[in-house]
Amino acid sequence: MSDAGRYKERLELALEAAGLDLWENNLVTGEVTGKALKTSQELGYTQSEMAGTVEEILRLVHPDDVSRLQQAVKDHLTGQTPQYRCEFRLRAKNGDWIWFANFGKVMDGDDGMRGQRFVGVTFNIDDRKRKEHEIELMNRQLAEKNALLESYNLQLEMLASTDALTGLANRRKLMELGLRECRRAERFQHALSLLMIDIDHFKAINDTWGHHVGDQVICAVADACGARVRQGVDAVARFGGEEFIVLLPETDLVGGCSLADVLRESVAGLRVPVNDMAEHVQFTVSVGVATGYGGGDMEAFEQLLSRADKALYRAKQAGRNCVRV
Ligand code: GH3
Ligand code: MG
Ligand code: MG
Repeated sequence: MSDAGRYKERLELALEAAGLDLWENNLVTGEVTGKALKTSQELGYTQSEMAGTVEEILRLVHPDDVSRLQQAVKDHLTGQTPQYRCEFRLRAKNGDWIWFANFGKVMDGDDGMRGQRFVGVTFNIDDRKRKEHEIELMNRQLAEKNALLESYNLQLEMLASTDALTGLANRRKLMELGLRECRRAERFQHALSLLMIDIDHFKAINDTWGHHVGDQVICAVADACGARVRQGVDAVARFGGEEFIVLLPETDLVGGCSLADVLRESVAGLRVPVNDMAEHVQFTVSVGVATGYGGGDMEAFEQLLSRADKALYRAKQAGRNCVRV
């Protein structure tokens, strides 16, 4: 066997082992001078059905990949890339799209003319592309699930810190806010005031008009408090059945008392309908006010609560519908 023959044999073996399919095109005539046999077989085309021109090959390329492929060829032919590389889909005879990769180079023509032969290899990368696609899909699903989980967590956090009847912060949330504000008050040496508000003779409202009206009264007081505090600064919480806490950062005793009186008066002006006959119920609240300068732990906040509770007790003793400090 001649040297050339042996060389060809070795090359064929190497190409086969690597799963590579050799091709060659004539750039001047657009003719396929070396057909990619393996690729054609994989696509399900017989020898006679195989593309004989670059034109015909391009017609097999997926429409979304054509311009990318042409650009890659152009970049190489104009000397911008040392090799031509591209990944694209080809249409199989049964209509399926199969992913292939190309690797090629312009080589000198047989007669010594530069840049006439375009030689390269094609190999099947369909498996890899499918796996990449699956991973991409899985990642997207994972990201969607994570976003869902995050929104559930947010909702859960909301539910765990909100009173279902009034939508106000609940006792648990109040304790968290109270500790935070106590620490801030201590750090900046600011006054922190706290109002403890309790509906007067609420049991009588329940007994006379029913629990449903009682609930509406609770909501009316909650709304009245919420409407008269500084948004994003003060906090209103439902502390118990018909008890509320208003937390007022950077507010001294005078400021706390004046807001307490505003709230007391606005509640006294409320009317909650009790039936379809235009009858309504009126009610009042008693308020206990306490002011402190914070502290680093929960004990400081609990002390503030306890002082407001004592003031509230005195307001009840004094005949209700009033404010005590
Ligand atoms: P005082 O003026 O001394 O505060 O008297 P009061 O009747 O308001 O106080 P008391 O503590 O005796 O009654 C509170 C009532 O609130 C008792 C309880 O049945 C009722 N209650 C607690 N939670 C709710 C609720 O969520 N809805 C309704 N409708 N009633 C509630
Ligand atoms: Mg009470
Ligand atoms: Mg009460």
